[in-house]
Amino acid sequence: MSAYRFVGARRRLIETIRAQGIEDLEILRLFDDIPRHLFLPEGVWNRAYQDHPLPIGYGQTASQPSLQALFLQVLRPGPDDQVLEIGTGSGFYTALLAASAGRVYSVERIRELSIRARRALDDLEIRNVALLVGDGSIGWRKYAPFHVISVAAASPGVPSALVDQLAAGGRLLLPVGTLEEQELVLVTRNQTGEVREERALDRCTFVPLLGQYGWKEEPGEE
Ligand code: SAM
Repeated sequence: MSAYRFVGARRRLIETIRAQGIEDLEILRLFDDIPRHLFLPEGVWNRAYQDHPLPIGYGQTASQPSLQALFLQVLRPGPDDQVLEIGTGSGFYTALLAASAGRVYSVERIRELSIRARRALDDLEIRNVALLVGDGSIGWRKYAPFHVISVAAASPGVPSALVDQLAAGGRLLLPVGTLEEQELVLVTRNQTGEVREERALDRCTFVPLLGQYGWKEEPGEE
């Protein structure tokens, strides 16, 4: 079955991720267990296990695997956690989260990507994921609060709506900066409700978060 293809390339990807300082075996195992190629357009399957962002259509990209591993290492989703993901994209990172967390709520603004991600998740019988098409910069209030919030698109600032939806003891990670370059920002809420922001975990370049608390869309843009 095609889920078991590219075994050697998967192992090499895991070594690459490990060489970037991700030592957690639980995280590394996820990249072996979940076939990234099945979340990508067939035209890029031959590059699916390289440590690169890849085009998924509609001007969007699937994020770099080592960066996704770093997100998991910082966010540490646990089996009882409710997770909010902004920017479903291909759905691969959604699947990584779903394997680690209790339930994942993932918002994507491009309908076609959300439909494709749903199909890949269903094919792999990943059931603990709810998908929504819409503006994730405002979160998903109906299911708040979340123990973990993970944003895969660049924001000009930390959206207050997402901070509001963070549970006590919760962690929010997102790229903040200009359209050209961002730094990862970790926002935590402690048990007494106090919110802290930690900057400069790493520099990166993500596609823009478009929406109410992100960058404003140009008229006529999708
Ligand atoms: N983790 C995904 C993956 O590996 O496939 C990354 C997807 S990509 C880097 C970021 C996604 O965020 C894009 O699919 C884009 O359409 C989406 N996006 C941008 N602004 C958004 C918003 N306000 N709400 C929801 N999704 C948004």
